[in-house]
Amino acid sequence: MNVVADLHLHSDCSDGRLAPAALVAHAARCGVTLLALTDHDSVTGCAAAADACAAAGLRFVPGCELSASWRGQAIHVIGLAVDTASAPLAAYFADIAQRRRLRLHEIGERLERRARLPGRDLAARVLAQVTVPTRTHVARELVALGVAADVQGAIDAYLLRGRPGHVPVEWPTVTEAVAVLRAAGAWPVLAHPHRYRLSAGALRALLAEFTAAGGVALEVSVGGMARADLDRLATLARRHGLAASCGSDFHDPSIPWNPPGRFAKLPADLDPLSARL
Ligand code: AMP
Ligand code: MN
Ligand code: MN
Ligand code: MN
Repeated sequence: MNVVADLHLHSDCSDGRLAPAALVAHAARCGVTLLALTDHDSVTGCAAAADACAAAGLRFVPGCELSASWRGQAIHVIGLAVDTASAPLAAYFADIAQRRRLRLHEIGERLERRARLPGRDLAARVLAQVTVPTRTHVARELVALGVAADVQGAIDAYLLRGRPGHVPVEWPTVTEAVAVLRAAGAWPVLAHPHRYRLSAGALRALLAEFTAAGGVALEVSVGGMARADLDRLATLARRHGLAASCGSDFHDPSIPWNPPGRFAKLPADLDPLSARL
């Protein structure tokens, strides 16, 4: 049977819209046969997703998408086939959750001061809903307030650098993220490298550091990406001797451009990480 591996999906245990079981059902309808749940800084949804995959006849891979920092920029490192009971990973998650809560409060303050919005109430509402508060959650509340048309518009207008609710945040380093994933038995994957604002030289330096730390794969094909980006990432994977991963980065069924399972096929000469899962 043809394997459709989607190795990058979010549930409502981080900033996705669907609960793990509903996400699995949606992915199955979209034709996915091998599914990794990769919530931001959490593996909370993996048990429910595993059960739902078993019931629906899909292969399941437990995963997560870690927040890390490199040269002042947020970088995401996915871990696949992770030991969800790993103690060092739990400690990493606890540290990130604390940084996220502090940032959320600061975002609330800044929205009050700089945008004259009820930011403290907004932050309290987010905190009441989730344990991993992300900017996506803040953006949804801004949409609910009627100050932005959609989540992307709210992030762009209020939460990115130079905007009133922007709060710079320092995550653990990429090397630390890779190390904690290795300690948890996972394959570390550098997520969506085309989205970082890095020069070609800086991206090569990041890849060298990622590889030296024990990183094994690049996410070469992601939902909604341009063909030229995929070709560039495929070249980088070959040059650095990295395996290739692929996934939709699905969050929300109302966003039409990256449903589960929809992204370009990996070039045939690359070493697909899915073969090791
Ligand atoms: P956070 O990890 O809390 O900074 O939240 C980042 C989340 O916001 C990402 O996981 C994306 O789902 C979403 N997002 C949407 N647009 C952007 C953007 N331009 N930069 C960063 N995150 C974005
Ligand atoms: Mn996200
Ligand atoms: Mn990401
Ligand atoms: Mn993601």
